[in-house]
This record gives sequence, C-alpha cells and structure tokens, in this order.
Amino acid sequence: MSTPPLASGPEGPRALRPLLDTVLEALDEGARARGGPLPAGGPDVVAARMREALGEALPDEGDPHALRTLVRAFAEGAADPAHPRCAAHLHCPPLALATAADLAASALNPSLDSWDQAPAASELETLVAGALAAEIHGPGGDPGTAPDSLITTGGTESNQLALLLAREAHGGSVRLVVGANAHHSLPRAAWLLGLPDPVVVPAPAGTLHPAALDEALSHLAGPLLVAATAGTTDAGLIDPLPEIAARCAAHGARLHIDAAYGGGLLFSDRHRARLTGLDAADTVTLDLHKLGWQPVAAGLLAVKDRRDLTALRHRADYLNAADDTEAGLPDLLGRSLRTTRRPDVLKLAVTLRTLGRSGLGALVDQVCARAREFAALVDEHPAFELHARPALSTVLFRPAGATDDTVAAVRRALLTDGRAVLGRARLDGRLWLKVTLLNPVTGPADLAALLHLVAARRATLVEGHTPR
Ligand SMILES: *Cc1c(COP(=O)(O)O)cnc(C)c1O
Repeated sequence: MSTPPLASGPEGPRALRPLLDTVLEALDEGARARGGPLPAGGPDVVAARMREALGEALPDEGDPHALRTLVRAFAEGAADPAHPRCAAHLHCPPLALATAADLAASALNPSLDSWDQAPAASELETLVAGALAAEIHGPGGDPGTAPDSLITTGGTESNQLALLLAREAHGGSVRLVVGANAHHSLPRAAWLLGLPDPVVVPAPAGTLHPAALDEALSHLAGPLLVAATAGTTDAGLIDPLPEIAARCAAHGARLHIDAAYGGGLLFSDRHRARLTGLDAADTVTLDLHKLGWQPVAAGLLAVKDRRDLTALRHRADYLNAADDTEAGLPDLLGRSLRTTRRPDVLKLAVTLRTLGRSGLGALVDQVCARAREFAALVDEHPAFELHARPALSTVLFRPAGATDDTVAAVRRALLTDGRAVLGRARLDGRLWLKVTLLNPVTGPADLAALLHLVAARRATLVEGHTPR
C-alpha cells in the first residue's frame, strides 16, 4: 500500500471528498439495512454481524474496503437517536451542522494543551467559554473575577472538576452534600478524589427539599459543597434553586448545580425563568450533547469566579514554559486535567452562531412540547398510567396494572424486536418506562405510533408469545 493520504495539508480536502462520499453512502446503506431505531435480534445477532464485518482487527495486510464495510456495519448496528422511536436516554441526535464542524476539528486536529498546536482554536475556546459563562452567571464586573467556563467531555467530568475546585478552594478537603436525586457521577467523583462519603439528603418528592437540606447542614461541620440538580436524568425535575442557594449562603456552604440536562433551558425565552437561582452557584455543569444537539463530547463547567480555576494551573516545560508565557504565548494547560485535548468548541461555536438563541430556544421548546403531548396521550389512554406531568422532555409511564417484571419485559422485547428504544427508571418504588424526547423532528404522529407499539407489545407478552 502506498502512503495513505492525510486529512489536512494541500491534498487534504481532495483526499477527503471521495472518502466522505464512501462514508455517507455506507451510512445510508447501513441505516436502510437496519430499517428501524436499532438492529433487531438482540446482542448476539448484532455482535455476530459486527464480528463478521471486522474479521481480523489487525490483519497482516490491510483491506482497502474497510472504511465502507465497517461504517456500513456500524450504522446497521447503531441505535440511531434521530429515529423517532429511539428515545431512551439523554442521547441526542446531533445537528448535521455540528457534525460537519466536527469534521473540520478532526481534519486539522488542533490540540488545546498548548498555543502552538491550536492558535485559533485557543482563542475561539476563550471567547465561547466566556460567552457561555456569562450566559449562566452574568457578565461579571472585574475581569479578574469574572465568570469563566471550561469545555469538558460531559457532565461526569464537569462534576468531578466542580468537586476538585471545591476541595482546592477549601485547602484540600470538602464534604459533599447531595440530594438522593443527584446524579451518580457526584458520589463517584467524591470517591475518585479521596473525599469522605457524601451526606445524602432524602428527596422523597424527587427534588432536594430546602428544609431537609437546612437540617442536614446545621448538623455538619467543616467545609461543605452542596450539589443541587437542575434537571434530574430520570424525571427532569429541577431543585428549588433560589431556596437552596439561600440555605447554602446561610450556612457558608459552597454550591454546585448539576444542570447537565436542564441547562439547555437557558436558551429558551419560554423556559429560562425555571433556572432562576442558577447564577448563585459557584460552579455549574452543562451538557450540550443533551439539550444542545451536539455530537459527543460537549460538556461545560462554568465557574462564577475565574480565580477558582487557578487550582488547575500546571506547568510542563515543553507546553507552557514560563518564558514563553511571559513573552505572551497563551497558557492553556490549566484549562483541563487532560493534556491532548480536542477542539470541541468548534462545533459549539458553529451551532451557537448559526442557530442563535432563538434557534436553539425553539428546539428546546419543541422537545418540551412534544413531551407534554406524549404525556397527554398516555394520560388519555386507558391501558397506561402516567407518572407525572413532564418537567422537561422525559415522560415516565407504565402499562396499567402491570408488574415491574412485565414493564422490564416490554422494554426488552421492544429492544430485541428492534422496534423501539425506551428507557427505564425506578421511582416511588416502581419500575417505569421512560421516553426521553430530544429529537426535534419527532412529530405527534410518531408519538401516537410509539404508544400504540408499546400497547401492542404488552398485549402479546400477556398472551404469552415469546419475543421474536
Ligand atoms: C447526563 C448527566 C450527567 C453526566 O453527563 P455525561 O455527559 O454523561 O458525563 C450528570 N448529571 C446529570 C443530571 C445528567 O443528566
């Protein structure tokens, strides 16, 4: 084989074009072969097909058709979040625009650990991170203490960083206080950072209750970090942020708000007020690969006071030598715990600029409206029970009179059939089916068809038919 062509450089675009044609054709062929939201047949069937497509992972001699073969199999075996019946997780269908921008990021491959690998990317990141920070915390006055944000790989990394910054702000230790409704990545971050086990405040109604928090805080000593949630993963519930912020202020506790899911409401004129109080948090997690329609990864950690970020400062002579920094080369290493780092900011910048606040807000409004419509369909349907009116864009429901085992079996049967990808959530001691609407193209007819499908599948299970 001659030297394979490169993605950048003078020949880059010419080399990429036919390969992109191949990729796009293979995506199309794979999706057609799948014919639904996910491949039918369950894990064994999918695994066998993938094994067959791959053959030997590292053959002695290469195969020039591997791009087509593997992309086709990858697409055929995918759970496609752009399919209206793929609605389990906070797994958004990415915008074509953002995906195209991501191609440019891959082609040029800037790495944000030093200015000499990413001259324009570093400036773009500074600007966009600053603008998103201002969106959350306001513009700030003094540039030295103004809000800022870090681009991360997602909510998990953002939550880890929030805990790390809190620990460092308190001289090396902090106790995490979370509601029982908090995301699992928060206690895990405490474990990762060697912090004491978190204090868990019961949240029987699904949100962190200010009085219960107050009670917990009044019995705790030492530096504390309260983590509240704006948009729980299962029910989309938003903690009472202003009341929680007031309790934290009264007890001198630091506040982190995990708005990985709900943070997207900031773009919507209609829903933005539900995030009142977000700006009181010292740190905020936001995930634009959820209500932001970005390809993974697109996370953010916003800090109210950029001085908090000095804890991440780091020196490596080959990346940010002191004399280079003094001579004016931007020092980027302290904006992450990673070293080599992808310019995820490009797709974000392109999306924000192209759609604007109104365009993104319209997408947010659309999926929230779809969730309300789906909930209304469930509520009207005699064969289903609705958990609650949707808070964001997830709807929890279950077949009326079903056991938890039946609920679980219906979900798995639909997966195995390749006909729908629904989530599951255990709330109030019962198992629920979860529909997460993040697809702005999904229409009312799709929702009705989905509900009909669940009802039909449940009926066949009850009659004792084994899944295909
Ligand atoms: C999704 C989610 C996370 C984790 O984010 P990742 O991007 O998956 O790492 C954290 N908190 C909440 C509330 C989430 O919904």
